[in-house]
Amino acid sequence: MGEPRPTGDPKAFLTTPRRLRERRAVPERVRDWSEVYRERALLPIIGGQAARCMDCGIPFCHNACPLGNLIPDWNTLVAADDWRDASARLHATNNFPEFTGRLCPAPCESACVLGIDSDPVTIKNVELEIADRAWESGFEQPQPPERPSGRTVAIVGSGPAGLAAAQQLTRAGHTTTVYERADRPGGLLRYGIPDFRLEKYRLDRRIEQMQAEGTRFRTGVAVGGELRADELRARYDALVLAVGATACRELPVPGMDLTGVHQAMEYLPMANRAVSGDGGPVISAEGRQVVIVGGGDTAADCLGTALRQGAATVRQLDINPRPPELRADGQPWPVHPKVYRITTSHEEAMALDGPGGGGESGDPRWFAAATVRFEGDAEGRVRAVRLAEAEPGDRRPRPGTERVLAADLVLLALGFSGPERDSGLVGQLGLDIDAAGNFARDGGFAAGTDGVFVAGDAGRGQSLIVWAIAEGRSVAAAVDRYLTGATVLPAPVAPTDRPLAT
Ligand SMILES: Cc1cc2nc3c(=O)[nH]c(=O)nc-3n(C[C@H](O)[C@H](O)[C@H](O)COP(=O)(O)OP(=O)(O)OC[C@H]3O[C@@H](n4cnc5c(N)ncnc54)[C@H](O)[C@@H]3O)c2cc1C
Ligand code: SF4
Repeated sequence: MGEPRPTGDPKAFLTTPRRLRERRAVPERVRDWSEVYRERALLPIIGGQAARCMDCGIPFCHNACPLGNLIPDWNTLVAADDWRDASARLHATNNFPEFTGRLCPAPCESACVLGIDSDPVTIKNVELEIADRAWESGFEQPQPPERPSGRTVAIVGSGPAGLAAAQQLTRAGHTTTVYERADRPGGLLRYGIPDFRLEKYRLDRRIEQMQAEGTRFRTGVAVGGELRADELRARYDALVLAVGATACRELPVPGMDLTGVHQAMEYLPMANRAVSGDGGPVISAEGRQVVIVGGGDTAADCLGTALRQGAATVRQLDINPRPPELRADGQPWPVHPKVYRITTSHEEAMALDGPGGGGESGDPRWFAAATVRFEGDAEGRVRAVRLAEAEPGDRRPRPGTERVLAADLVLLALGFSGPERDSGLVGQLGLDIDAAGNFARDGGFAAGTDGVFVAGDAGRGQSLIVWAIAEGRSVAAAVDRYLTGATVLPAPVAPTDRPLAT
């Protein structure tokens, strides 16, 4: 029996406490690569959780979502057990809620009015349950266009921005082909984010749905390299660049060239390929003393991967000071605040608290830790990381605070500086680079060259899946207007929109 579902009770939030999805026990989940959450663990509680929504007159949750998700609408429908309509309402604004329901940091929950003096609605979990149930119940069917427009579009890059743009444009009737240099489509959803956060069959079935609708995929093609970008532009009526921000930041310290020092985006794609059964080389953390430099999602994904590979120890160096437990004064509601968060990977390291796990405090992260250099042995293999406390402000190493941490595998997760500029795209299409180092575009996502558009991290810089999907939807509207003179496709965001977040 599930939690009582007080449908129609406007004060349900007073009687029903917030409850989250259950995670599998750490010792169980670090032995496999399956998602850390229990499959369908939400079923018994989700109606009651959705009913906590107050259906606010001004739903701040909706305003905080880049997709403009109709959150109070689907909360009400779920509380009333109307899953078909909830699914229709959710998919009206989000092409891929099965990804955001798992991976979004949920700025909507930070902005939920209940969160002012209580616990916010579990919006993300409600979204996820609607999305998963839609697949199981057959609500998720291909939607091929009623008639072809006779226009053709090429999309370069198959991450969430490219996929969302492709689905919107195909459904609008345009013959759409996605070009991807990797062997399979998906972008960072496939080769960045590990299976323990997103099992890849979820991506595969979405791509199969898109193929059934008519979207074509050409994988293993590097546009700008073996296929010239200007030739591709000439073959299609419009071209969308959704190539991501894949240029990794470097760390300007001695020892970067030692064997055993790797970019996270060398390490994670190999690990993900191995989990998919593709074979190929793997940088294994098994039995090694791993140090991860960096503090974001990528670092946490390296941590969870290294634990599953059987690392002897894992430490993470974050140059930023430890964030506060609660919202700082400068980050009031409804801002998505920078607070101390324990990801599932950190939870695993803390629970293991031994080989492969956390240190004295349990948390594998060392905050305000500046890397001074990597130290190697006579054979040129990394053996240690020399670090120091980071000065507040300029984050330089503070003199007199240096210490040495043993390491024979170092993973650099320092973020991304923008799209690659040496792929041939820039020169062949005459692209401009903006002040932030991204591909420049105007307010309508158009690059300087006629019929060329830019969407997702390539134009926005390193961001989030929800922004990539929102930009994919918006660029589809811009392309549709360019091709036909008008559009009814939604455009939830403009290139200049920024999150109400730190
Ligand atoms: C490890 C990791 C974990 C993350 N975790 C989260 C998370 O939990 N939540 C969240 O919201 N965001 C997360 N992000 C960020 C999120 O994945 C990105 O913001 C999002 O994927 C950007 O989408 P995109 O479509 O713009 O680009 P990408 O996903 O980067 O896709 C770009 C695609 O273009 C292809 N490409 C590039 N150049 C060419 C070319 N010349 N020819 C053909 N193809 C090309 C690339 O191979 C790639 O497949 C994470 C990022 C990383 C690296
Ligand atoms: S802000 Fe919170 S309580 Fe209000 S409508 Fe949105 S989810 Fe419901």
